[in-house]
Amino acid sequence: MKIYIDGEFFAPADAKISVFDHGLLYGDGIFEGIRFYNGRVFRLEAHLDRLWDSARSICLQIPLDREEMREATLEAIRQNELRDGYIRLVVTRGVGDLGLSPSLCKKASVIIIAANISLYPAELYARGLEVVTCATRRIAPAALSPTVKSLNYLNNILAKIEAQNAGAGEGLMLNEQGYVAECTGDNVFAIKRGALTTPPASAGALCGITRGVVFEMAAEFGVSISEPNLTRHDLFTADECFLTGTAAEVIPMVRLDGRPIGDGQPGPLTTRFIERFSELTRTTGTPIYEGQ
Ligand code: PMP
Repeated sequence: MKIYIDGEFFAPADAKISVFDHGLLYGDGIFEGIRFYNGRVFRLEAHLDRLWDSARSICLQIPLDREEMREATLEAIRQNELRDGYIRLVVTRGVGDLGLSPSLCKKASVIIIAANISLYPAELYARGLEVVTCATRRIAPAALSPTVKSLNYLNNILAKIEAQNAGAGEGLMLNEQGYVAECTGDNVFAIKRGALTTPPASAGALCGITRGVVFEMAAEFGVSISEPNLTRHDLFTADECFLTGTAAEVIPMVRLDGRPIGDGQPGPLTTRFIERFSELTRTTGTPIYEGQ
């Protein structure tokens, strides 16, 4: 395995960053999780758009231009001779001193790890996930916007610990007002009488790339989609629910806080989204190798 750091490739044991990197000291940095399937990177441009938006929001100068970043990402996969897998792209603030100020960090660092992914077990897609609501609230957009995909994931990690302690597959996070925001690493959708809803970004949701693909698929299927504030009641009483994320893809959520959603089985529209999503991942994307 070879890992990209600032223009060079290293074996995992030698892929190291400084203890003075503010990504480590303060969680000062941003990242993307990207999938590639069948020799193509899925929605690479959307991920790069979001990376640049995150950087702009936190005043981080990415040391590569967009074309260089695209090429570095593809090269990180080629160096590992992979056709299917997961990319973790990280941009840290870089090396500074022990103070908070990023102004002493001379140059941001770029790390790209291309690896095989360990998937959720196939039976979970067939059976669906059980989810619990976490006591930990999603961080308020005015404190740190959840639309920034930053290295500060402690809020999500604390919720994840709660979900794991409860033996659930994912944890639902509410915002300070008690409206549904998202899960610890996935967006959430509800279907009621054929209409699709998902929380707006302003409720504390990341603008997930997979979420965006669901909007496109809904348009294709002629399914109406809206972004109202949702309460737990809306999920308890939905006909179907599902979660989306780069790692999870589209996965049914069949129980919330002990209540079955609909009949407690993955619903027909959810299954349609899963099937179409799998077709899109297999047939679209940025080619990694020549002649692809
Ligand atoms: N919300 C959070 C908090 C996440 O970390 C992720 C995973 N990146 C998502 C939602 C889903 O986003 P995407 O579809 O871009 O992976």
